[in-house]
Amino acid sequence: MSDGIQQSTILVVDDSESNIEMVLAILDNYDVIPATSGKDALELVESEHIDLILLDILMPEMNGFEVCKKLKETENTKDIPVIFLTAQKDEDSIEAAYLTGGVDYVTKPFKPVELLARVKVHLELQHLIHKLEYLATRDSLTGIYNRRKFFELAEKMFSTYDENLYAIMLDIDFFKRVNDEHGHDAGDTVLRKTTEIISNLLPSTSVFGRLGGEEFAVILTASADEKVIHLLDKIVSTYANTKIAISPKQEIQCTLSCGMSPRYRYTDSIDELLKEADAALYEAKQTGRNRRVIRAERR
Ligand SMILES: [Mg+2]
Repeated sequence: MSDGIQQSTILVVDDSESNIEMVLAILDNYDVIPATSGKDALELVESEHIDLILLDILMPEMNGFEVCKKLKETENTKDIPVIFLTAQKDEDSIEAAYLTGGVDYVTKPFKPVELLARVKVHLELQHLIHKLEYLATRDSLTGIYNRRKFFELAEKMFSTYDENLYAIMLDIDFFKRVNDEHGHDAGDTVLRKTTEIISNLLPSTSVFGRLGGEEFAVILTASADEKVIHLLDKIVSTYANTKIAISPKQEIQCTLSCGMSPRYRYTDSIDELLKEADAALYEAKQTGRNRRVIRAERR
């Protein structure tokens, strides 16, 4: 069994207690949460992390198809794979199971080997999808968001927050010298350490990405400009005071410059917001580096 899938949490939804007992016995190697109605299941997916759902079709009040439809309509639950449990083997039911978004179906009475095999296949697939998603959205060197994912999430933040939204552009000062004087491995170490230092200081809801080379960007929300300015001062000073070990024997210190722009009334796109932050970064570079510059509101 591939790593991780045994720690998966499976939600089993069935109005029959005896069916639930059976599933629990068959899947006793997994963490299984039972629910006896669609309503309970929809509440549980809100509060628990669920990797896979086994869903009975025939249930009073809300049937399995209705539950599945709701799950697929909800952002947080739409990607959880659903395997239908059904006593019906007619083609219409099976077609409906797939049409509402199910990935598979298992017919009752359960054959333990079959149920186990299908659960395992779909958990492994899900695990693989998560891994691929991670690889597709991360910068391979630093593990923070890559450029494409950063812009996608930044765009989302921009459409969600009309105010209290901030863009920050950061750039390591004289980074070329690190590569020239100490080699590219040292450069990579500095880049990794840089993202680690910044990540540790950013609020957890920030979107932090590497745009390319030694350039990074952050989109975040805050209740007041002063909080972001304080954060930037902290980032600039912490960074300048951190010794980075580029080999067992050698430590170096770098500085970084950053530019920040709040979203103003006239800021009409995420590109414009980032451009304003970039202009502030440019000014920080022009006026001596190792500092932050805030883009003032235009009159
Ligand atoms: Mg039933």
